[in-house]
Amino acid sequence: MDLNTVTSVIPARHRDDLRALGGGVVPLAGGSELYADPRIHLTGLVDLATFDWPALTVTDAGLEIAATCTFAELSRLPAEAGWTAHPLFYQCCAALFGSFKVWNVATVGGNLATALPAGPMITLAVALDAEVLIWRADGSDERMPAVAFVTGNMSTVLNEGDVLRSIHLRSAQLGARTAFRKIALSPLGRSGAVLAGRLDVDGTFVITVTGGTIRPVQLRYAGIPPQTRLRSDIDAITDWFTDAHGAADWRQAVSGVLAEEIRQELNEDENQNENEDEDNR
Ligand SMILES: Cc1cc2nc3c(=O)[nH]c(=O)nc-3n(C[C@H](O)[C@H](O)[C@H](O)COP(=O)(O)OP(=O)(O)OC[C@H]3O[C@@H](n4cnc5c(N)ncnc54)[C@H](O)[C@@H]3O)c2cc1C
Repeated sequence: MDLNTVTSVIPARHRDDLRALGGGVVPLAGGSELYADPRIHLTGLVDLATFDWPALTVTDAGLEIAATCTFAELSRLPAEAGWTAHPLFYQCCAALFGSFKVWNVATVGGNLATALPAGPMITLAVALDAEVLIWRADGSDERMPAVAFVTGNMSTVLNEGDVLRSIHLRSAQLGARTAFRKIALSPLGRSGAVLAGRLDVDGTFVITVTGGTIRPVQLRYAGIPPQTRLRSDIDAITDWFTDAHGAADWRQAVSGVLAEEIRQELNEDENQNENEDEDNR
């Protein structure tokens, strides 16, 4: 869709170029969300793609994902040794049912900044306890846990003029075992609930509930919890919502079922590993 109130598109090459943001001028990433609806309040865009940030940087500490990294780029990233959580990358990328075009232009940062409850990059970032780096409009940098970044349905901690710069995943979480579940009302429909579980090497168990709640909810345990405890913690969540992609009570019910499936899957993995350790003794 043409944004015919937009009269300027500034290619950003230096951080100073972001000073143009504000008062009807917003960041442009892949444009898959921006160009999807009329936005008559907009007068200009600042294109982040021209920063040419490296999409994916593997370091000793983990992985840095540039906000401008596309779903297509992330989905093709090969696993490094020890990255047991690597399947979660593709699973989350594929949880966005856009076309070939959306897959190739939509960015990780654009997905987080759009903050739809069904934003699969939110699931990925929160499930792996990522840290996000925000370039604030006043020139300062701010880092925060990804779970705190999304504050509601299509709302985040970003203020006018701020830019999400990158997402950082640490080696410890990349080395965790993960399990993923999603459900939608139709085979190619937008997700109604998306859940990811993580079992760390030290036994910490984390379930991230998204899609059915207006913001990501993280449940964290020192070990794999009993079924009844997990069920009651899911039932205690109050952020379920209703829209065309599912009713709140349906989202709550299916999230309970999917969380239990994840608990069982990671529990089986854990038991299998313990048996293998005993066999090797
Ligand atoms: C057919 C179709 C299906 C879709 N399905 C889904 C879905 O299942 N789940 C889902 O979550 N989304 C979905 N979307 C919406 C959208 O495609 C994705 O959210 C996508 O990831 C947005 O990324 P983008 O790079 O295209 O963002 P853009 O469209 O470029 O930007 C989106 C918004 O984020 C802001 N923004 C972008 N990057 C940054 C940044 N680095 N810092 C600060 N602000 C920024 C922009 O100013 C704008 O307000 C769908 C869209 C289409 C057209």
